[in-house]
Amino acid sequence: MPAMTAVSLRDLEHSSAFVERHIGPNDAEIAHMLEVVGHESLDAMTDAIVPATIASRAPLALPDAMTEVDALAKIRGVAKRNTVLRSVIGQGYYGTHTPNVILRNILENPAWYTAYTPYQAEISQGRMEALINFQTMVTDLTGMDIANASLLDEATAAAEAMTLAKRSAKSKSNVFFVADDLHPQTLDVLRTRADGLGIELLVGPAADARDAESYGVLLQYPNTFGRIDDHSAVAEAVHARGGIVAVATDLLALTLIQAPGRWGADIVVGNTQRFGVPFGFGGPHAGFMACRDAYKRSMPGRLIGVSVDADGNQAYRLTLQTREQHIRREKATSNICTAQVLLAVMASMYAVYHGPDGLTRIARRTHRFASILAAALGKAGVTVGDAFFDTLHVTGVDADALHASARAAGFNLRAIDASSVGISLDETTTRDEVVALAKLFGVEADIEALDAETADALPQALARDTQFLTHPVFNTHHSEHELLRYMRMLADRDLAMDRTMIPLGSCTMKLNATAEMIPVTWPEFANIHPLAPADQTVGYSELIDGLEAMLVEITGYDAVSFQPNSGAQGEFAGLLAIRAYQKAQGQGHRDICLIPESAHGTNPASAQMVGMTVVVTRCDKDGNVDIDDIRAKAEKYSDRLAAIMITYPSTHGVFEEDVVAICDIVHQHGGQVYTDGANMNALVGVAKPGKWGSDVSHLNLHKTFCIPHGGGGPGVGPCAVKSHLAPYLPRALGGDGEVGMVSAATFGSASILPISWMYIAMMGAAGLRRATQVALLNANYVAKRLAPHFPTLYTGRNGLVAHECILDLRPIKDATGISAEDVAKRLIDFGFHAPTLSFPVSGTLMVEPTESESLHELDRFIDAMIQIRGEIRSIEEGRLDREDNPLKHAPHTAMQVTASEWTHSYPRELAAFPLATLRHTKYWPPVARVDNVHGDKNVFCSCIPVGSPEEEPEAFSEPDVV
Ligand SMILES: *Cc1c(COP(=O)(O)O)cnc(C)c1O
Repeated sequence: MPAMTAVSLRDLEHSSAFVERHIGPNDAEIAHMLEVVGHESLDAMTDAIVPATIASRAPLALPDAMTEVDALAKIRGVAKRNTVLRSVIGQGYYGTHTPNVILRNILENPAWYTAYTPYQAEISQGRMEALINFQTMVTDLTGMDIANASLLDEATAAAEAMTLAKRSAKSKSNVFFVADDLHPQTLDVLRTRADGLGIELLVGPAADARDAESYGVLLQYPNTFGRIDDHSAVAEAVHARGGIVAVATDLLALTLIQAPGRWGADIVVGNTQRFGVPFGFGGPHAGFMACRDAYKRSMPGRLIGVSVDADGNQAYRLTLQTREQHIRREKATSNICTAQVLLAVMASMYAVYHGPDGLTRIARRTHRFASILAAALGKAGVTVGDAFFDTLHVTGVDADALHASARAAGFNLRAIDASSVGISLDETTTRDEVVALAKLFGVEADIEALDAETADALPQALARDTQFLTHPVFNTHHSEHELLRYMRMLADRDLAMDRTMIPLGSCTMKLNATAEMIPVTWPEFANIHPLAPADQTVGYSELIDGLEAMLVEITGYDAVSFQPNSGAQGEFAGLLAIRAYQKAQGQGHRDICLIPESAHGTNPASAQMVGMTVVVTRCDKDGNVDIDDIRAKAEKYSDRLAAIMITYPSTHGVFEEDVVAICDIVHQHGGQVYTDGANMNALVGVAKPGKWGSDVSHLNLHKTFCIPHGGGGPGVGPCAVKSHLAPYLPRALGGDGEVGMVSAATFGSASILPISWMYIAMMGAAGLRRATQVALLNANYVAKRLAPHFPTLYTGRNGLVAHECILDLRPIKDATGISAEDVAKRLIDFGFHAPTLSFPVSGTLMVEPTESESLHELDRFIDAMIQIRGEIRSIEEGRLDREDNPLKHAPHTAMQVTASEWTHSYPRELAAFPLATLRHTKYWPPVARVDNVHGDKNVFCSCIPVGSPEEEPEAFSEPDVV
């Protein structure tokens, strides 16, 4: 007789569901937490939070959840429909070998990819060292004074150079001259950005830059066709008339040719893709910007600098943070927030691994192959240019026939026109490839013979004559063991999500599941050039179309562009769509953008980039946007109203009741509604902005849809619109859309889209809704349990918050002198990453636990916060000193608590082990509290010179303007 079984197959299958892994609390824990929060069920709690006017109860029309195994099998099939040919297309993207030690230990390592932006300096020393290596690598190779810690890509970096030059130039001209031999994608993005800002672009031959009346010029060196020209005379002429010289360049070429800083460049931009980061169908890769010291305070993007900690030891920190959009808002000089940290870390490690000699060898070898191929083609009687590094501009050929035979032989060449093609060689080029490429032209190449008889094609006068990467960090870690241990040492200094929850409000630091990450590094996704022909990218099309359909269903919009490679870029794209639409309606004069004072700083920054004038609207005492103020301002500016930008649920962490009415008001006055979708984690499966009256949103796939933060990037900020705006989404490269490109590649950071696709596929409709509900539950549980200790500043209906809560520490500050920052730093002693500090309200901490945190982890955090409240009470009641207490001196390093001398009035045990559980696992911050003011006054942004550690680096001294 068969044994009876009590468990059905369906139940057994359910327990292997991904949903159970993604969502932290299990059913019993959810029941317990619901009880604490005071609701019967998740649905009842949701109804109590989400206004009925926007709630959508119908299940999302998405397929059922798949298991990890099934979803990986399915996306494997999608990937297989891509065809990986050897792309020698160039145009800004080149083959590269990602060193396996970097692939596995950075790109595939959650210690690096789940880290947050290094706002909390003490727990971010490792990634900041990697980034300062990046900055040093860029300044050395370009010959400039200072570089930032990455920009989104080369084209947007060029656009930022155009605006940095505008702010910095003595010339009052409104014209920016751009050489016509730039990469086409760079030119397209420049046009888009110039248009919004009212800058006049003058495009012409590089030599004409000499005489063009312009405030600045942009040259490319080597140019898009590979040619290396001497621009020193042009630079001199531009300087003579008070103009600024910006240069787009290639870092590998610069190991062999003169640094632009040596011949007059003021700003240098480019992309570090070929330093070990795969094509990825266009991204993500780390763009860069370097400039003269004089412009450092108006440079866009993040800058890592060196400061000192409380003990006077050197420590890294994000320097000049006051320039960030959070503070500058509509006065911001750029909207860049998320950049490309993970990719910048990879590129910097590539330089650390190869060192100056290794990089030079890679460049020499690449150039040798290019020279040999040029000589071979010379025998076929075709012209290839004479001053080049890696790229041959082959003219006088039947391009169509050549592309066809190249593809048959497994190569993609660059399409230029009917009679010319481009061939760019790179680190991965082999002898066999050169033979095969020569054969396309009917030449039997004898590599040895050609090598012996062929001279280099680098212009002698432009040979590099300065050293680079002389710092020991680039000359030490060349064996795999050394690099492995160096990367491990840096990772160990940091707190990422592989060690603790990162309860950051607004940034949704949820699980980045391994299964979601796996497809990213498959060759079928990683090794596709962004300009590969469409018949080789069928898998990508399927992936992108599929993800678009999923997001359309989730948001209630009609179309999605994946081109924006950050949330702020998505805002820019959305506002461009609004402008272009209104123009087409004969409403091009509309230029006012209403933005509530609680908005994220990127909102006003993006609005000013499209030429809109920002009018700030008020919030009421409950944290809600003030609808009366919006109505009054919409009326006042009725004939000029272009748009409102609102965040929903608000940055104050509440579902505002009036959102539908606000949409109506704005529409009545002819404006469009932009909803910042960064908070979609509170909405998926619960409400759809596209259905309640909003016209456009960006989503942050690197928040809600599981793309990891990478320490501050990469990101994907797709722009989702209603159908009337769809014709005005950014065009493809070479496409004929109304609105220009907003980033370098047609599909932005395409290679990380599998992450979001996998997430949605594995969660299914029911899982996504449940995730949102548990995100709401977790936030309310934290708010409720902490209420007796730290009051929550704003709540919505029924006293509930949305997916995050703002803890108000201002009364504590008034009573005890203990600030929100002290609490944030004290949390480090407990092994936690701090919540968002002083945004959107100064003196507060914003906590967003997300659905992925288990009850155990939430309780661990709550226990730490309660313990900290107890310490504050001890200060209030005189048991701890107001100045000499564990909060003011947090975080405590191992060195401090083990020093022979201990001068504090509180015990060492309290300093380092305030909870018994810490004896089991303890994170030791590598530095004590970092001095912010010192770092801003003494801006120093390169690797710390090796010498006596007490000696301070030589600083560019200049008092901070802020
Ligand atoms: C994160 C965020 C943004 C900006 O996104 P980035 O990807 O950093 O450019 C905009 N608005 C809100 C509310 C955000 O939280």
